[in-house]
Amino acid sequence: KRQGRNSICFYQHPAKTTLPIGKVSLENALRLAWENKEFELWYQPKMNIASGRLAGFEALLRWHLHGTGPVSPAVFIPILEDTGMIIPVGYWLIEQACTDLRQLADLGIDMPVAVNIAARQLTQDDFAEQVLARLRQHRLPPQRLALELTESSLMQEPTRAAGILRRLRQAQLSIAIDDFGTGYSSLSYLKRFPVDTLKIDRSFITEMEQDADDRSIVDAIIRMAHGLSMTVVAEGVETAEQAALLRQLNCDQIQGYWYARPMPLAQLAAWLAEQQ
Ligand code: C2E
Ligand code: CA
Ligand code: CA
Ligand code: CA
Repeated sequence: KRQGRNSICFYQHPAKTTLPIGKVSLENALRLAWENKEFELWYQPKMNIASGRLAGFEALLRWHLHGTGPVSPAVFIPILEDTGMIIPVGYWLIEQACTDLRQLADLGIDMPVAVNIAARQLTQDDFAEQVLARLRQHRLPPQRLALELTESSLMQEPTRAAGILRRLRQAQLSIAIDDFGTGYSSLSYLKRFPVDTLKIDRSFITEMEQDADDRSIVDAIIRMAHGLSMTVVAEGVETAEQAALLRQLNCDQIQGYWYARPMPLAQLAAWLAEQQ
C-alpha cells in the first residue's frame, strides 16, 4: 500500500519457503526475470577434508526479487520445471558456469564446478551434446564440470537418463547423486547409473553429533561409497565438530557454512586470495 496502487511485491520470511502470492504471478515474475537476465550463479566452495584444501565449487542459482530480497531456489526451481523454463535457464546456467570456470582458470584456479541438473533438463535429446559443445567452446577439459542429480530426477525416465549419463561419463564428466539417502529409490540404481560421487544429504549431518543413528547411516554410506570407488561429499556441514567427525569417518569432502557460504564470483576471488 505504501508503494501506491497497481503494484505488487513479494514477501518471504527467511526461514520460509512459501510466498503468500499466487503461483501465476510468481510465474510471471520469473518470466520477466528471465527476459531481464536477473538470474545469477553463486558458488559454494567444497573442502578436501584430509588436506583442508579447496576441492571445487557447487554452482547455485540465485534470484533476487526487487525490493524483496532473495527467493529460495526451493520455491522457484519447481516452477521453472513445471513451465519448461528450466530448459533455457538450464542451458544458460551451464554456459555461465563455463564462462566462470574459464575466468577461474585464468586466475590459476583449476577446480571442478558442479551444476545442479533438473530431471527435465537431463532427458532432453541432445543434452549430452549441448553440454560437451559448451565445454569445447570454452576450451575446458570435461573433468572440470560435474553434474548433480537427485535420485528422484534420475528415476523419472531411468533408461533415458542412464544412456545420457553414460555418454557424459565416457567424456569424463563427473556425475554426483545429490541429497543421497532421502529418495525412495533402491540402491540398485547405483549399479545402473554411471555415478562417481555421492553427496550425503544435510538432514543426516545436522544431528550427527547427538544422534547415533544418523552417525551410523553416515558411516555406512561412506563405507559403501568407498567400496564402490566413489567420492563422498557431506553437505550442510555447519560446525567444526561435524567436520571433525566426518574426518574420522573418512569422508572425502565437506561443503557447508562452516567452510564457506555460497557467494557471487566477484566475492569468490577475494575469498580465494584470503585462503592463500
Ligand atoms: P542442493 O543441491 O542440496 O544445494 C545445497 C543447498 O544447501 C543450497 O541451498 C545451499 O545454499 C544450502 N547450504 C549449503 N551449505 C549449507 C549449510 O551449512 N547449512 C544449511 N542450512 N544450508 C546449506 P539453495 O541454494 O537454497 O538451493 C536449494 C536447492 O535448490 C538445491 O539444493 C538444489 O536442489 C536447487 N537448486 C539450486 N540451484 C539450482 C540450479 O542451478 N539448478 C537446479 N536444477 N536446481 C538448483
Ligand atoms: Ca546440489
Ligand atoms: Ca544436495
Ligand atoms: Ca540437501
